[in-house]
Amino acid sequence: MTDEAMERLLERAGELMDSHVYPLEETVMAKGWEGSADERAAARAAVKAAGLWAPQMPEEYGGMGLPFRPHAQLSTVLGRSTFGHYAFGCQAPDAGNMEVLLELGTEAQKEQWLRPLAAGEIRSCFSMTEPDRAGSNPTWMETRAELDGDEWVVDGHKWFTSSADGAAFAIVMAVTEPEGPAHARASMIIVPTDAPGFEHVRRISIMGDEGGGWASHSEVRYHSVRVPKENLIGGRGQGFLIAQKRLGPGRIHHCMRWIGICERAFDLMCKRAVAREIAPGKPLATRQMVQDFIAESRAEIDAARLYVEHVADVIDQKGTHAARTEISCIKFFVANILQKVLDRAIQVHGALGITDDLPLSHLFRHERGARIYDGPDEVHKASVARRILRGYGLELGSIG
Ligand SMILES: Cc1cc2nc3c(=O)[nH]c(=O)nc-3n(C[C@H](O)[C@H](O)[C@H](O)COP(=O)(O)OP(=O)(O)OC[C@H]3O[C@@H](n4cnc5c(N)ncnc54)[C@H](O)[C@@H]3O)c2cc1C
Repeated sequence: MTDEAMERLLERAGELMDSHVYPLEETVMAKGWEGSADERAAARAAVKAAGLWAPQMPEEYGGMGLPFRPHAQLSTVLGRSTFGHYAFGCQAPDAGNMEVLLELGTEAQKEQWLRPLAAGEIRSCFSMTEPDRAGSNPTWMETRAELDGDEWVVDGHKWFTSSADGAAFAIVMAVTEPEGPAHARASMIIVPTDAPGFEHVRRISIMGDEGGGWASHSEVRYHSVRVPKENLIGGRGQGFLIAQKRLGPGRIHHCMRWIGICERAFDLMCKRAVAREIAPGKPLATRQMVQDFIAESRAEIDAARLYVEHVADVIDQKGTHAARTEISCIKFFVANILQKVLDRAIQVHGALGITDDLPLSHLFRHERGARIYDGPDEVHKASVARRILRGYGLELGSIG
């Protein structure tokens, strides 16, 4: 894609954000998730009409077929609003599930699940983390799936299954090979949410907000849920491998989305610093401590963007596996910048910053999880250090 084409794409995306996506923030806040169905559908229809739907998906699935780097760049524009990726049909966890089904799904799985998912007709969720096992060690889980004749029987208890409320199916990580080596015990299985035994227990309230529909995190139980054996994705025991593949590019997309959020917060912070007077004729922006916030934030956001673009290039040139250390580095690096920039923007707004009159408090609550999901900071730092130290002759072994 040429630079001009990329610029035009980002411009068109920006126009759609102005006309259809930012207005959704107030609408969803006022009417709730269910009550804003018409406006959400209208935003998605406008994106489809503009030909910008599902940027990461191939054209045969109604998407734009964008390569990795331009998609990551587009993500920074969409990330400026909580609803950007949703409106453009590339929101987590659906986007990751689409990638898995596209790469590893059988033809039948693609027809039944991928096609309607890519079209935005249904939603999905990814069910791996469990309340009773440390999610930081994904090779260690209790959920089991046993083959009984032609069916898998799934039993387990999960939580933080994002977007489960209203999803048509879950991709569930379950142990199918209990005697296998740690990294080859679990498999991924498609479980329709209307299958008998699937229980949506609750939307978990997070910092006072349980969200709704796509923007929620659920506790889920699987009570001997039976699904056809054909619902296995890839091979038996490949769940961990597929999860790594799914999460690698996903982490870059999160980083680009976070940079979008940083830019939005930065913009609000600067506008407020100029508009708010602390004494007649003396805007906040005249104070050096506020200038420090602005300068530090600018440098950090730019550093984050360049680092993420560099990692996107490494992935394009060498693949996700070769970029594991870089991906881990940007995951914790950008998540921390996000938190700092949001916090400074809130601080500059004073009391207004923590109200729901602005998007900042929602973003702050919603994105505190950035340092936890897709691997907590500490886990990524440990794996970066482990790989580096291996080069110095020290073998530290894995978590488990
Ligand atoms: C907003 C949000 C959305 C999520 N969405 C999903 C989803 O859709 N599907 C899904 O399956 N899961 C999801 N998760 C779960 C997420 O993947 C887990 O929370 C994550 O893997 C951490 O697992 P845990 O919460 O069990 O923390 P634990 O594993 O109990 O770890 C707790 C803390 O211990 C520390 N720690 C852990 N390991 C180490 C180590 N090796 N060295 C040093 N310190 C360590 C870290 O500080 C960590 O935060 C989501 C989480 C959040 C917050």
